[in-house]
Amino acid sequence: MSNYEYHKPQTVKEAIGLMESLENAKYIAGGTDVIVLVKQEKLAPANLVSLRNISELVYIDTKDGLKLGAGVTHSAIANNEFIRKRYSALADAAGAVGSKQIRNVATMGGNICNAAPSADTACPLLVLDAKIVIDGKAGKREVPIDDFFLGPNKVALNAGELVTGFVLPDLGSNTGSAYIKHARRQAMDLPIIGIAARAAIKIDGNEAVCRDSFVAGNDISQTIKRLEDERLVFEDVRIAMGVVAPRPVRAKKAEEAIKGKIISEKLLKEIGEIAASESQPRDSIRGEAWYRREMVKVLTGRAILRSIGRIVGPEQMTNPNRLW
Ligand SMILES: Cc1cc2nc3c(=O)[nH]c(=O)nc-3n(C[C@H](O)[C@H](O)[C@H](O)COP(=O)(O)OP(=O)(O)OC[C@H]3O[C@@H](n4cnc5c(N)ncnc54)[C@H](O)[C@@H]3O)c2cc1C
Repeated sequence: MSNYEYHKPQTVKEAIGLMESLENAKYIAGGTDVIVLVKQEKLAPANLVSLRNISELVYIDTKDGLKLGAGVTHSAIANNEFIRKRYSALADAAGAVGSKQIRNVATMGGNICNAAPSADTACPLLVLDAKIVIDGKAGKREVPIDDFFLGPNKVALNAGELVTGFVLPDLGSNTGSAYIKHARRQAMDLPIIGIAARAAIKIDGNEAVCRDSFVAGNDISQTIKRLEDERLVFEDVRIAMGVVAPRPVRAKKAEEAIKGKIISEKLLKEIGEIAASESQPRDSIRGEAWYRREMVKVLTGRAILRSIGRIVGPEQMTNPNRLW
């Protein structure tokens, strides 16, 4: 393992200054990616600039949408009631990262800047239209998340730049979202694929009937049929897929195809097929390409349905495992 010097700046300005003046330096937040790479000798920094003592990177601001500091941990996100309710996909993902010990130290900033195709919080941020707030010697700037991922472990940061936070718009009360992490086991594992969805809906019929149709124990085809009978229309939908391409991607053709349509089982299946045709998975140790594509077909409809459940469903529906 390489010898490195460990620096502990107290402010963003100090951290950026250190990155400018030091040779072969790397930011470290929770260290759950960086230290693994250093131990594996895939990374040999001479200097680690720690972000852990910078209090201005740790905030959750729920006024007018959602603003998150890059230093917020996955645990803090997963346990935040407001995020669970209004930005559910993000809470689903943060709660599914690694183990409790990992979630207690690992940060959103680290997850996004590490930019693994399997990064759990990437797909939720894509469907929630997040912007990345960046600071550096040239000043502050904001980048839409879709422009931030350039490829595996590659992001749109210039030398020495730091992600300070994330800005998510207010999506209104007729919107719900969900993230489904499909892994080999319900334990600590990276996803074989991850699917996030966000749906904004309009109900022409009876909302109470829609709500009742989500009561646990209902047959899923029946649930969809009742929603169809009450003319539940998709006003806007976002779908993002992880581990199906070199970077997390939106399924834009599928999003376009569902807009303005009334829900039906046939429609959800079609949307899954379109999303799968937009994916470019490869074989890997966690799963083969054909399997990933099949799972995109299945999980896209489920993620959309869970998103709807979170808008119209009864309280118990906030536990997505009770559906499908
Ligand atoms: C046992 C284990 C299980 C894991 N399971 C999962 C999982 O299920 N899902 C998942 O997505 N990930 C998983 N990970 C990966 C890792 O925990 C996450 O990616 C985590 O969010 C990284 O955050 P961190 O704060 O530890 O980042 P660090 O390791 O500190 O940093 C990661 C990268 O981001 C850069 N960086 C960090 N913060 C900033 C910033 N603010 N601005 C600019 N650059 C920055 C660092 O320089 C580094 O390149 C796992 C890791 C381990 C060790």
